[in-house]
Amino acid sequence: MEYALVTGASRGIGKAICLRLADMGYNIIINYMSNDEEAKKTQELVKAKGVDAILMKFDVSNQAEVDAHVENWINENKDKSISVLVNNAGIRKDNIMVFISPEDWHRVMDITVDGFYYVTRHVVKSMLSKRKGRVVNIVSLSGLKGLPGQTNYSASKGAIIAATKALAQEVGKRGITVNAVAPGFIKTDMTHDINEADYKAMVPMNRFGEPEEVAGVVAFLVGKDSSYVTGQVISVNGGLYS
Ligand code: NAP
Repeated sequence: MEYALVTGASRGIGKAICLRLADMGYNIIINYMSNDEEAKKTQELVKAKGVDAILMKFDVSNQAEVDAHVENWINENKDKSISVLVNNAGIRKDNIMVFISPEDWHRVMDITVDGFYYVTRHVVKSMLSKRKGRVVNIVSLSGLKGLPGQTNYSASKGAIIAATKALAQEVGKRGITVNAVAPGFIKTDMTHDINEADYKAMVPMNRFGEPEEVAGVVAFLVGKDSSYVTGQVISVNGGLYS
């Protein structure tokens, strides 16, 4: 009864990751914040692959909600285990830094950085006792290179890249790997305001990526072939930055 918990999984990259991990035989816990309709669609698609699909609605940045759902689920389901965690929930609130409101600064940091901490600490605690687990953090090109108009987002993703490397060193001896995937431009709701025709020339592969192309790299980091890969950041960006 192995489960994969994917945060921010109602839509976009998270949804594609759920479907790919379901193909690998994992039962899936689908976290999302508000979009019940899209979350149910993801749940139906996962179930159609013959595995369990649980909806878990909570805001990753709200510690009490995370405790009530993630910690409780782990405590109440001793016969099951979350052996894969994909920290994918994220938002953008872009502006040049002098115009970023304190609310928009904190919202981005709260979801990406605090959310990572609140969710991961419960799941890794349980992985440590089982001496097995895979953690994959979805970061961004913005966290590697820094992008103007995204100091809040770049800072949050950069923090998770550093946390990935630190945590990987803490838990490696217990058979747990921790890696990050850094997408470039991927076609989801998050980038619906960025016109591919205007920006694709910046990308050596001359196109935006598909969510499934990110999910494929997550599948590698979760699967057997990456058993000796930890503390790494793998870019999925069509050659935009290396
Ligand atoms: P998306 O299409 O906007 O989907 C965002 C997902 O996150 C939704 O499932 C949303 O749930 C969920 N979410 C947002 N805030 C949440 C919260 N506080 N608690 C729990 N869930 C929350 O985004 P995406 O493009 O798939 O992005 C997924 C990840 O990839 C993010 O971390 C993003 O930063 C990263 N990324 C994306 C791109 C890109 O080009 N798309 C590039 C680099 C990195 P609801 O449906 O309930 O709102």
